Amino acid sequence: MPKAYFTTPIFYVNDIPHIGHAYNILATDTLVRYWRKKLGRENVFFLTGTDENSQKTVDAAKKANEAVGPYLDKMAKNWQTTWEKCGIDFDDFIRTTEDRHHQKVHEVLQKIYNAGDIYLGEYVGKYCTGCETFLKEDELNEKGECPDHLKKPDELKEKNYFFRLSKYQDLLLDLYAKNPNFLQPEKRKNEVLSFIKSGLEDISISRESAEIGIKFPFDKSHTIYVWVEALINYISGCPEGETSDFWKNCTHIVGKDITKFHNVIWPAMLLSAKISLPKEVFAHGYFTIDGTKMSKSLGNVVDPLDLSDKFGNDALRTGLLSSFEFGNDGDFSVRNFEEFYRTKLAGGVGNLFNRVIILVHKFLDREKVTVTTNEVDIKKDLEKFNNLLEQKKLKASIDHFFTVVDSANQLLNDTEVWKLAKTDLEKATDIFGQLLNKLVVLAQMAEVILPESAPKMKTMLGDKNRLGKAIILFERIE
Ligand SMILES: [Zn+2]
Repeated sequence: MPKAYFTTPIFYVNDIPHIGHAYNILATDTLVRYWRKKLGRENVFFLTGTDENSQKTVDAAKKANEAVGPYLDKMAKNWQTTWEKCGIDFDDFIRTTEDRHHQKVHEVLQKIYNAGDIYLGEYVGKYCTGCETFLKEDELNEKGECPDHLKKPDELKEKNYFFRLSKYQDLLLDLYAKNPNFLQPEKRKNEVLSFIKSGLEDISISRESAEIGIKFPFDKSHTIYVWVEALINYISGCPEGETSDFWKNCTHIVGKDITKFHNVIWPAMLLSAKISLPKEVFAHGYFTIDGTKMSKSLGNVVDPLDLSDKFGNDALRTGLLSSFEFGNDGDFSVRNFEEFYRTKLAGGVGNLFNRVIILVHKFLDREKVTVTTNEVDIKKDLEKFNNLLEQKKLKASIDHFFTVVDSANQLLNDTEVWKLAKTDLEKATDIFGQLLNKLVVLAQMAEVILPESAPKMKTMLGDKNRLGKAIILFERIE
């Protein structure tokens, strides 16, 4: 059986999980559920975790008057439980302060060093502690500040280890020529390609005076730049390691802001260490909240747990993922989300299941329902849904699910089967059969996009001999 391995970025441990992070991990979890259904759970692996070796975390711990270790434990736990509460079914949660990660980082860095791709030099540059990265002049705003943090970066001059990224320019172009899907969607790939073609410079990969982090295996006085070691988490957490089929079939799901790391530096590091590359990187877009960039100062930061508490995890997932297509930029509107809940979930699929189950109970025994529905239609609906998921078109797959819901509701209303059953039970029975078949397809699709409702749907559908009782899938919320 083929394998599949999915990763999210590891999240900065001292951030508070917000809906932007939730978007990434819910999308990944949805793809994972599709592949688990297709390949079997044991053949699919889902890794997420926290990025902890950053000076920012040390500063935050000091500010909170806590020791770094317990502070990190507390913050990492917060991420893990947030995702569990959101219904994310990951297989492993990696923390970059773990031994297994440190060991793997040493191993990989030693390989790159042995390949002659790491050398000691002097770095003079502008470093933004907020970004944890050196910024070039042309990346600063008019005031000479980091555009994200509106703070002048620190002038740094220090002895640094460098990675010979420049050596990999042609090899990377070759990689994209041979493997056009290595970065999706296309527009992201074009950005990365033009960045590579503009000329790659060697990059500094060490910090001399860090209070936290992983030391170089060949020089314990230098700490490895956090971004470089963070990328290696994907291997530290890979089941059966970097020679396994999991690794070769790995998909990194990332935000579009970190493609330079995932699509230039990361493959170059792997080429240098002679480790095979992951299968692909998919970079999703950014979204605004009601047309405005989400920010603490505007007070419009959405906590995914608020939506989950009030509407449930299936609503959080489908409401968010259907706001705009995966890979594009978009907008999330709380009002549209509530409308989606009211019309598509409670009034749509929830109401459909309830009505059909109650009506069939009222008029027939389950075994009397003849399955006359055209099986081809059912296969076609499922195939279309699966095809969309293979292409990572998450919004389109959710939309397709609701097209089937709408068609079932229409059949119910057009035939007025509750009246028909009193005058022509035979004809009504045929329509009940068609409706039940649609519910069977919907329950199958729900395993991927509405995982908390899917078992309830199956319970309602019962088996060949016995229909289950109607269950409310989505409570009406005023
Ligand atoms: Zn910054």
